[in-house]
Amino acid sequence: MSAQLKIIGCRAGSPMKGNPASGYLLKTPKGTILIDCGSGVVANLDDEDFDNLIGVVITHIHADHCLDLMALAYRKVFPSLSKRIPLYGPPSVAGMIASYDALFGIRTLPTMGTPIATAFEFKPVVPGTRFTVADAWAFDTIAMIHPVETIALRSVEFNFVYTADGAFVDAFLDFCQGCRTLLSEATYPDQDGHDLLEHGHMTAPICARLATNSGAANLIVTHLSDPADSRITMEKIHQEFAGAVHLAYPGLAIELEQ
Ligand SMILES: [Zn+2]
Ligand SMILES: [Zn+2]
Repeated sequence: MSAQLKIIGCRAGSPMKGNPASGYLLKTPKGTILIDCGSGVVANLDDEDFDNLIGVVITHIHADHCLDLMALAYRKVFPSLSKRIPLYGPPSVAGMIASYDALFGIRTLPTMGTPIATAFEFKPVVPGTRFTVADAWAFDTIAMIHPVETIALRSVEFNFVYTADGAFVDAFLDFCQGCRTLLSEATYPDQDGHDLLEHGHMTAPICARLATNSGAANLIVTHLSDPADSRITMEKIHQEFAGAVHLAYPGLAIELEQ
């Protein structure tokens, strides 16, 4: 059985024309899972993928990973109410949902008083534990070094890791060990002037070494802080990783074997 990993958006920070912030689809034989819902993601979500959603995962409450959750909730409750689906994320996502619903709920419409709580059933994921979507697709998680509570994901069946945002520590290499496909942030081309542990991000060389040392066959490089750094970022990646490499872009689709 196979699945497809499809990129909707991969911008760090803000969306740009044609490229939303973080949003990734895992298209499985039992439905589609949206991983992160950054700004601009919903406008780039095909109707078919929207209709097939069986779950949403939010890795952390930074805007470039969750701002469009309200837009997605509006789409699920208006003009007609669609099936409620599970929403997974670290426990701190609950506070974001409550605040967002308090701000943007429309009390005069029965389905829109609390759009996110109505559209989704929130299932908190304690970092380090496993959760399973649709009784079929399991994900292991680990807490990342980032300014807010953040989980990285490892798909058990399809053997891929999504780093979300986070600095490298040795425990994270253990988490990635043996993965076939690595979807990794490389926020900065190099360390110049950046406190990686404080900001909680990786550089291109760190991303490449993570791919090499974990034994990944495929590396998808994402979440660049500046698109103008693409060329130098990929040069540095190729210097330290010999496997297949893609620079993420909206529409890129990678086949994942079970
Ligand atoms: Zn980010
Ligand atoms: Zn972040």
